[in-house]
Amino acid sequence: MTYLDYAATTPMLPEVIKAMHEAEKKFFANASALHTPGHLAMNEIEHARELLAKLINASPEEIIFTSGASESNNAVIRTFEGCKIETSPLEHHSIFESVRRFSGDKLPKLYSYMLANNETGEILSFPEIDRNEFAKSKLFEAVDDWGKPLVTDRRKSYLHSDLTQVLGKLPVDVKALGLDYATLSAHKIGGPIGVGALYIKKGVPFSPLIIGGNQEGKRRGGTYNTVGIIGFGAAAERVLKDQTWKIFDTEVRKLRDALAERILAKIPGSSLNTNIAYGASLPNILNVSFKAAEGESIQLYLDAEGIVVSTGSACASGDIKPSHVLMAKTGDAEIAHSSVRFSFGLNSTMTDVKKVMEVLPGIIDRLQKISTISSDSSK
Ligand code: PMP
Repeated sequence: MTYLDYAATTPMLPEVIKAMHEAEKKFFANASALHTPGHLAMNEIEHARELLAKLINASPEEIIFTSGASESNNAVIRTFEGCKIETSPLEHHSIFESVRRFSGDKLPKLYSYMLANNETGEILSFPEIDRNEFAKSKLFEAVDDWGKPLVTDRRKSYLHSDLTQVLGKLPVDVKALGLDYATLSAHKIGGPIGVGALYIKKGVPFSPLIIGGNQEGKRRGGTYNTVGIIGFGAAAERVLKDQTWKIFDTEVRKLRDALAERILAKIPGSSLNTNIAYGASLPNILNVSFKAAEGESIQLYLDAEGIVVSTGSACASGDIKPSHVLMAKTGDAEIAHSSVRFSFGLNSTMTDVKKVMEVLPGIIDRLQKISTISSDSSK
């Protein structure tokens, strides 16, 4: 198989599989329990938390584990329910659908801007936010069990970023980025599906999305997913050890750029939706449109050849609406419908690029011919 869908999910790293397999046997006890096996499981969770905190330059207390980036995104947006929320049209569905449903007109205001887009890889910039003190809001009234205020950082505006696609591809420093909240997901860095994390800066407002347990410092109820969290920790450790963003910046970028050049040179009617200039996009994503060829058809023909890609975002497939990201960027439904996303990872090689180029020109040619025939016959 030629797997080029790493932005949708990555295969688990061997050390992640090993760590999780051992954890299933050794750390099955409920990590909140007071007995020894419970403590041992909790120690592992705290170790994973430390690794993740180190990876993004946060303190361990500023990280909570969740079921994935979708939950982390929902938790931040719901904290600001009824407040002004500003976001870009390029966000993942878990942001813009919840913003549509829960935003209002009260202060404080939340800005939620992803740092890189999952469909095109485009690197975006954050808006300037007003960091002035602002003392009147229900959000600031939260207190702990002793009546001490939980929110000590009271402002007019807060900044959240969905860093799901960025982790491991670029160095991340939440302090340098000026973030109050940041969303992370394990399965985009070689960890398991169904585990995510949320960075919540000390002292900023936060209301738990899942209520009913004291876990995660009362910020997320539910029995700890010990095995999954250990897997996330092992993946974070690999990212830290290898500084994988350096490998993406050199090796992986070369593959992505080689595919872009070959497609443009060999396939008439192809155009890039990803700006591959240095610094303009993540080095592992290439989104391309092929005139008069449908993205879904290309995906199926490639799949028949053992080549795995996605159209728009994987989360939107099965949905015939054109990608909201490409529509926002180009305003052209034809471009959006004819797009394919190739995304590379740490296991990708030049053989993958060659395999694509062996079959893609023929597939596009065939589809373009069918499209001409069908549009002729409809006259
Ligand atoms: N945000 C972005 C930018 C993503 O790419 C994805 C995964 N497609 C998500 C959120 C959702 O991640 P998860 O599967 O961990 O919920």
